[in-house]
Amino acid sequence: MARSHRDDTERLSRIFQTQREIAAAGNDLAEMTRIVLDRSRSITGAEGAMLCLVDGDELVTRDAVGIAEKGHRRRPLATSVAKHAIETGQPLLIEDCENDHRLNREMQRAVGDTSLICVPLFQGPRVVGVVNVMNRDTAKRLTEEDRQTLEMLSVVLSAAVSHVAEYEARRAEIEALSRFNALFDGASIGIVRSDTEGDVVDLNPAVEEMLGYTAGEMVGVSFRNFMHQDDLEESIARFDQMMAGDCNTYQFERRYHRKDGKIIWGQTTAVLERDADGNPRFVHSMIENITERKLAEQALVRQSELNQHQALHDALTGLANRTLFNERIEQAIREAERESSQVAVLVMDLDNFKEVNDSLGHHAGDVLLAELGSRVGHAVRAVDTVARLGGDEFGILLRKTDGREEAIPAIERICQAVERPVTVQGLPLSVEASIGVAIYPDDGRDVETLLQRADVAMYGAKEGNSSYVFYDEAFDHRDPTRVMLVGELRRAIEERELVLFYQPKARVGSGEIESVEALLRWQHPERGLIYPDAFIPLAQQTGLIVPLTLRVIEEALAQARQFLDRGMHLPIAVNLSTRNLLDPQFPNQVEELLGRWNVDAGMLRFELTESTMIADPVRTRDVIERLSALGIELSIDDFGTGYSSLAYLTRLPVSEIKIDRSFVMDMASSEDSATIVRSIIDLGGNLGLTVVAEGVETQEIWDELDALGCPIAQGYHLSRPIPPDALVEWLAARGFPGCSEEQAA
Ligand SMILES: [Mg+2]
Repeated sequence: MARSHRDDTERLSRIFQTQREIAAAGNDLAEMTRIVLDRSRSITGAEGAMLCLVDGDELVTRDAVGIAEKGHRRRPLATSVAKHAIETGQPLLIEDCENDHRLNREMQRAVGDTSLICVPLFQGPRVVGVVNVMNRDTAKRLTEEDRQTLEMLSVVLSAAVSHVAEYEARRAEIEALSRFNALFDGASIGIVRSDTEGDVVDLNPAVEEMLGYTAGEMVGVSFRNFMHQDDLEESIARFDQMMAGDCNTYQFERRYHRKDGKIIWGQTTAVLERDADGNPRFVHSMIENITERKLAEQALVRQSELNQHQALHDALTGLANRTLFNERIEQAIREAERESSQVAVLVMDLDNFKEVNDSLGHHAGDVLLAELGSRVGHAVRAVDTVARLGGDEFGILLRKTDGREEAIPAIERICQAVERPVTVQGLPLSVEASIGVAIYPDDGRDVETLLQRADVAMYGAKEGNSSYVFYDEAFDHRDPTRVMLVGELRRAIEERELVLFYQPKARVGSGEIESVEALLRWQHPERGLIYPDAFIPLAQQTGLIVPLTLRVIEEALAQARQFLDRGMHLPIAVNLSTRNLLDPQFPNQVEELLGRWNVDAGMLRFELTESTMIADPVRTRDVIERLSALGIELSIDDFGTGYSSLAYLTRLPVSEIKIDRSFVMDMASSEDSATIVRSIIDLGGNLGLTVVAEGVETQEIWDELDALGCPIAQGYHLSRPIPPDALVEWLAARGFPGCSEEQAA
């Protein structure tokens, strides 16, 4: 059927009409889209029409009418019929949809069209979208004539859709920009935008606050001016790498100068922004202020180094302490085993030292000890070790010594060094040494035996009034003081001379009493009250600590039972030592004791120090987990004085950390201590751990802890450790539930 001139005129006028309508729709996108679809459909008499915009590799349906409404919203351009239309740059007619491989099958099945025209819409050379019109009715298939009509219409449609696409893109840009601005201005991290030279272009309020400069003072200035000298080289290298296209982002910790001269630590992430051609345009630096964290870390590291030295050295003489001495003997034994050599262990006590102290004062005594320590150090080889074991007692380790004969010259040098007078306060003082010597392997094959036998020999030297004596089995029957003390301690455990004092812990905010810590005292029949420092090390050395701790736990549980019977709900904390945590029997014994006293595990708590747990992490972990499984809460004691490895806090079932008294007591005078206390409180809060401040001695510190949000405190400001009767009285006076004054009496 030939097309008449009249038809052509009719079509043209409808196309112009369409253009006018589109122009009238202005920026009303929905209206414009609807006009495009309605006119495309009515001009061709199609049953459906659909407008899709190109978004990267995909087509996105903007609107669809008629049967096209069933079409997919978003699909890949590559598998779409539009791809073929775009290639030709012309509207594409598909007369038999069911058999044409160019169609997206899924789409075709959904819509059910039998004929289709796809009209690509261009803005200059760029395709911006497509209009599809389609028919389902096989009797009214779309024809070449319809295709030509749409080809004419496509110019109008292209202009309209370009406008839509442009407007959409601009709106998306505006939205993105306003989202960005909201983030930029409101962000708690600092954001600096700098150009490819590194000059500041823009910055957000968080940067102004962090660095103390206003935007006006920073814009146009090289951002490097605000960086710390020591970080500059790395910063510039990274920036240059980015500009060279080697990376799009980098991250590191660096320091900045605040306007007031302070240093700020920032965790900085720099991200490159490129222009449309892919060239570097801006660098966004996002800076998180981590100054507090860095200060805490540095303080903890300093403290940890100090602790490590202090943990192994004697403060007065700078010599090795008992712990380090034991370690060195252990090493020397292993070495001697390998090399079949011998080792001499010496214990030296100064005769009449007490008299110096008594007549000239402690200071004179200290000067004397320091001088003698130094002299003995010079009298032995560099490979040997001199240690101060306590009081006027020294230990000397002579490595690779082949027997007694070889050790004698060194021992005599030591004696001469000690006996040479020392001038203190203008007076020449003379002391004499008594040295006991034990040799590996003849006198013992382990540290404990060697030390104990050197000690025995030393008492032999004192008794015999000789400078030095080698160990002899005969000495063992003489029962020297230390052996006696071990015997006494064993008896004390059996005879229940060990008593518990209790020190309360309270909530800082309300003052409410939360729990108590049980502290051990030895009620010695002759010597009176002995504090744990005087006998716990001995108990640990001899293994007596195991029965001793069990005795303490039993005593604490008996007390808890008494409290519960009165209606007092007061958990009791007991301190454990490494030996307990290395003992696989321990959890079972604790469970048995809980059952025997019919006390809920929640009423018992254990305090462990960091070094206790780290001694042998694999073995202690098993015991720790079994104790926790019983329902006993575990607490880290003296926190901050150990290795400062915080990793175990999350790995072990710990529910409480106790900030070591040294930090709490110093927090008013030392910034490092205050930082550590504050950081531990924050850390505990973040990890869901209860934080206890130990050693709170003044109202001032108490208030300070309250302000920092520390939940619990313990210390003399609240109460000293007191016997159970006194505790009940003390609690009654504070109205503790279940303990009235009459009951206390
Ligand atoms: Mg404790």
